[in-house]
Amino acid sequence: MASSFKGNKSFLPSKICVVCKKEMTWRKSWEKNWESVKYCSDACRKKKQA
Ligand SMILES: [Zn+2]
Repeated sequence: MASSFKGNKSFLPSKICVVCKKEMTWRKSWEKNWESVKYCSDACRKKKQA
């Protein structure tokens, strides 16, 4: 098998979670609100609001 998938991983956009600073990769469920996504998970969202 040749490694012809080089660079394929960077196809999806990603951003940094404002709470845990982890990189989060685009998900299908964020398709409609990717611009306003700030947290990688509900746990981080609650942590920020607490
Ligand atoms: Zn997070």
